[in-house]
Amino acid sequence: MNDCLFCKIIKQEIPSYKIFENDYIYAFLDINPVSDGHTLVIPKVHAENLSTTPDLYLSEVNKAKKIVAQILQEKIEGIKGFNYISNQEAIAKQVVFHYHEHILPKFKEDEGFL
Ligand code: 5GP
Ligand code: ZN
Repeated sequence: MNDCLFCKIIKQEIPSYKIFENDYIYAFLDINPVSDGHTLVIPKVHAENLSTTPDLYLSEVNKAKKIVAQILQEKIEGIKGFNYISNQEAIAKQVVFHYHEHILPKFKEDEGFL
């Protein structure tokens, strides 16, 4: 049995607000946003972190980051830039052990950095 939270989100067993998806990735709003539009991009395969994610999925996650940033910039006014962040292992504050990239819109210099 797979108890992974993000696998459940992919299977829509847990609701989420979708920003973008294709055959390889799913992108959705973070439930506890650091800034408006804070989005998570995850591969549609269970892997704990970047190091264990198959290259095909890594490449698709990376491509999706670019697409999601564009979508967010079209949807939300005032975005001046982005932080793209991934936490690996508990020491780096990884809490959900299904590889994900945070896309954090930046509106002004001093606002939230994960
Ligand atoms: P980590 O610290 O592992 O890099 O970040 C995990 C992220 O997942 C956190 O920013 C947290 O707010 C988000 N998160 C945890 N549970 C849920 C959930 O059920 N739904 C959504 N949309 N985000 C979640
Ligand atoms: Zn998973």
